[in-house]
Amino acid sequence: MNFYDVIIIGGGVVGCMTARALSRYTLSVLLIEKESDIGMGASSANSAIIHSGEDPMPGTLKAEMNRLANPMWDQLSAELGIPFKRTGAYIVALDEPCGCLDALQERARENGVSTEMISADEMMKREPRVNPATAGALYTPTAGMVDPFAACLAPLENAVMNGVTVMTETAFIDFIKEGNRILGIKTSRGDFACRWVVNAAGLYSDEVMHKAGVRPDFKITPRKGEYYILDKSEIQIDNILFPVPTEVSKGILVLGSTHGNILVGPNSQSTPEKENRAVTQMGLAEIWAGSQRLVPSIAPRSIIAVFAGLRATGNAHALNVDYSHDFVIEIPKEVHGLVNLGGIESPGLTSAPAIAQRVVDLLKDAGEKLVEKKNFNPIRPERPRFNHLSHDEQAALVAKDPRYGRMICRCEMITEGEIVAEIHSPLPAKTYDAIKRRTWLGTGRCLGSFDMPRVVAILSQELGVSPLEITKKGAGSEFLVRLTKDVEA
Ligand SMILES: Cc1cc2nc3c(=O)[nH]c(=O)nc-3n(C[C@H](O)[C@H](O)[C@H](O)COP(=O)(O)OP(=O)(O)OC[C@H]3O[C@@H](n4cnc5c(N)ncnc54)[C@H](O)[C@@H]3O)c2cc1C
Repeated sequence: MNFYDVIIIGGGVVGCMTARALSRYTLSVLLIEKESDIGMGASSANSAIIHSGEDPMPGTLKAEMNRLANPMWDQLSAELGIPFKRTGAYIVALDEPCGCLDALQERARENGVSTEMISADEMMKREPRVNPATAGALYTPTAGMVDPFAACLAPLENAVMNGVTVMTETAFIDFIKEGNRILGIKTSRGDFACRWVVNAAGLYSDEVMHKAGVRPDFKITPRKGEYYILDKSEIQIDNILFPVPTEVSKGILVLGSTHGNILVGPNSQSTPEKENRAVTQMGLAEIWAGSQRLVPSIAPRSIIAVFAGLRATGNAHALNVDYSHDFVIEIPKEVHGLVNLGGIESPGLTSAPAIAQRVVDLLKDAGEKLVEKKNFNPIRPERPRFNHLSHDEQAALVAKDPRYGRMICRCEMITEGEIVAEIHSPLPAKTYDAIKRRTWLGTGRCLGSFDMPRVVAILSQELGVSPLEITKKGAGSEFLVRLTKDVEA
């Protein structure tokens, strides 16, 4: 049985940031992910905001992690090449006096977050597309936008460069225990021995902790959030626009993205199903109505895609205890060898680097002697992005490798060279969606109808497998069912 000092269950942003934080030390670390790629859960289906931290209730772990993590993103972005823009955000009061924002400003003050109240005129000046019925806004200058998939990929790639092992298509099944001590885990790809397990399983974190005998009353009840993506050529908004938040949600937003598209959403619907990310007619109608309230000029013809994400909301109704307002970040007493992370809903993307640091601190507090590696390298080199280069740089790249001269995705201008580089990267892209998440190929108005057959051919050639084996997102999502007569001949 292979042995690791630490095994991380789950390759979302929390698991990936934790892997990178641990890779700084002389520990052997394995990260397992049940899906065909990392970042296929909540971490790449969200609003992609690095929150300033005005919203969480003061005194909660959410407020603390958000406050600690927000300033970390500049350095993370610089070291790891994660697209990040510190744009600031506006919580816009509509049809109601600006006084409704006073309580939020006070909460921000308690959370140590700087804010500025701005008038309706100033709001219209800064974002002329906002509903003219605005009564003003609360501006939080430290909020920003991030590429949410790069926020998973880049730290984990850096962790791999620093010695971490990653296994995808590997599902945690159970713990191997002796008494109340964890000795390892059983997975769909065999057993592994270890001293520590980090539960970063997102929506399934409740099931993982129950198998360890921890918090039997804790239950994740997903809350679905639906979105529209708008074509970037239609309308430009570089801001993050929130309505005034409610008890359970920050409301339906209109916001730009690091990639230039505009997002509209999310709503917040409780659902018993952990795998159901389908959008609904009712949900889409709700987010459209919300977006029209904030920015009435958005037109339906701008819509190019829809998606939904599931928040890992924790509840413990059985004991009449409600965890839904906070993260669980702990080394539980009931069992030795578990770092337990649960209920990591929003602001979990923002907080991930601080949660990762807290995992390191908890291990130290538990007596783990963490020795820093002499050769830890914090830098993850970025791969060339053809459409970000000058003409001269593009010409030089094509001269070096002609595959950078073959355009595969015409909407987003992604070349064969970029696709091949992702297939052979430290965390190899083996499916169509894995390439899409890494390059943004297929995210323009044609939604991949031009590039898809070409990407299947490139994947088949580079991986040395039949095109019939190429999938969209893992087993069961194959594109092709049989070879045609022409190919057989
Ligand atoms: C609609 C919506 C909007 C949001 N907006 C924001 C925002 O703007 N800003 C912000 O800060 N946060 C936001 N969040 C919250 C944020 O996305 C999450 O808190 C964060 O992504 C959680 O990361 P994670 O790694 O804990 O979970 P996940 O990304 O879900 O990762 C968990 C991983 O564990 C894997 N896994 C599960 N079970 C097993 C098993 N048995 N074996 C192996 N692997 C397993 C899963 O496949 C998954 O990849 C939003 C969330 C949603 C849903």
